[in-house]
Amino acid sequence: MSEANAKLNAFPVFMRVEGEAVAIVGGGEEALAKARLLGQSSAVLRIITRAAEAELLNFIAATGAVHIDAAYDAAHLEGATLVFAASGEEALDRRVAADAHRLGIPVNAVDRPELCDFFTPALVNRAPVAIAIGTEGAGPVLAQILRSRIDRMLSPSLGALATLAASFRGAAERLPKGNGRRRFWSDFFAGAPARAVEAGELSQAHDAALDLLVSSAPAAGHIALVGAGPGAEDLLTLRAHRLLMEADVVVYDALVPEAIVAMGRRDAERLPVGKRKGCHSKSQTEINALLVELGHAGKRVVRLKSGDPLVFGRAGEEMAALRDAGIAYEVVPGVTAAFAAAADFELPLTLRGVSSSMVFTTGHDLKGNSLPDWAKLAISGATVAVYMGRSVAAEVAGRLIEAGLSPDTAVAVVENASLGNRRRFHGTLADLPSLEARADLTGPVMTIIGDAVAGANFERSEPLAAHRHEGVASTAAEGVEQ
Ligand code: SAH
Repeated sequence: MSEANAKLNAFPVFMRVEGEAVAIVGGGEEALAKARLLGQSSAVLRIITRAAEAELLNFIAATGAVHIDAAYDAAHLEGATLVFAASGEEALDRRVAADAHRLGIPVNAVDRPELCDFFTPALVNRAPVAIAIGTEGAGPVLAQILRSRIDRMLSPSLGALATLAASFRGAAERLPKGNGRRRFWSDFFAGAPARAVEAGELSQAHDAALDLLVSSAPAAGHIALVGAGPGAEDLLTLRAHRLLMEADVVVYDALVPEAIVAMGRRDAERLPVGKRKGCHSKSQTEINALLVELGHAGKRVVRLKSGDPLVFGRAGEEMAALRDAGIAYEVVPGVTAAFAAAADFELPLTLRGVSSSMVFTTGHDLKGNSLPDWAKLAISGATVAVYMGRSVAAEVAGRLIEAGLSPDTAVAVVENASLGNRRRFHGTLADLPSLEARADLTGPVMTIIGDAVAGANFERSEPLAAHRHEGVASTAAEGVEQ
């Protein structure tokens, strides 16, 4: 909220320009910038210059703007709705501004606020929705920063949703005033129609809106299985962030940091459901049942999982339960731990001539007698990312060596990948068993094995082998979502 005595000296309005002439005087960069800005509208641009630079000529050719290729004359402004003095020459801009004033046309002179009747905003364009940001000339850089922040918050399909909304205005008028109508619109913008538009299914969105008009049933619930990424807040996708801000309920796993859960609405319900090795707070069956129950109750739920929801996230079971219960859901990918770990080591997961395939695995399938398929892939040069592998590090190393992988194969290990408190280790397959004894590694650990690992940057990592003989570690932080 602004202070009570802070008054705007420039008041924002939305000017009708459809089919109207907008005159821009100038042929250089300033004129091009204004032409691009106004080119986002359906105004007819009239560009007056004898000295159009190549880019402006391209713009004119591409957009069908009117080019008056003549020395400026006041008559060129006649009939225009707005005038831009953008010649870059002070004397000419002053003349244009004076002429516009005489003709009674509002004028903007680039970089000369004292000559301006109006300022142009930084624009977030989701036509027909527009968000205009003005700083009264205090800072174009500030305006651009705000613009990109707002842009990130809004779905790219917001314009299509607003267009659909406009087509339902008349029908919605027939709903009872007050609550009935308000509920229709809030379900429209936050429910099934909005989700269908987001997915690019316009006719489905139309049908969903029709359903809302006729049904008095409470809005259907929806579950988004969302990847929270490896931990760093800014590795969350924009879509995940947007869904979090809209969710009624956030159901999250132990590995998802508090800071990400807190990005949800303040009044959203937050339900932690585990799981850490050794301390399940809810079984998978209970989690499935919880999601189904929330869906039946009409809630918009974000089911937050660390990394990517489809990688060792047990999303398969949750999706099956939701499908069986007839509850709508969607999946939002996230940055999986292997990718975050690779980035922390500047480690190429595929490397020309060295490794051209990649295995996502967990050491926990090594208990049997037969060698798992991925061991063969590792031997043929694949890069192997081992999830939940710390407590079985010796088993993984032993079986791979037994299968024929060289004990000298490079290994990179990172605890808390992507986070400020990450720790990096490097060594060889022969060193890997030492990981099991590392009681000091209490966060999640990712192990990457393969010849491509030798191409990583080990400047900020410690040797693995230095810790070969330490006590037996607890396995609390592994996560058990295999
Ligand atoms: N769905 C998740 C994986 C869940 S299984 C994903 O796509 O990343 C849990 C395992 O993921 C952990 O045992 C650990 O091996 C790995 N992991 C998750 N976050 C990690 C992090 N920040 N650093 C290192 N490993 C991580």
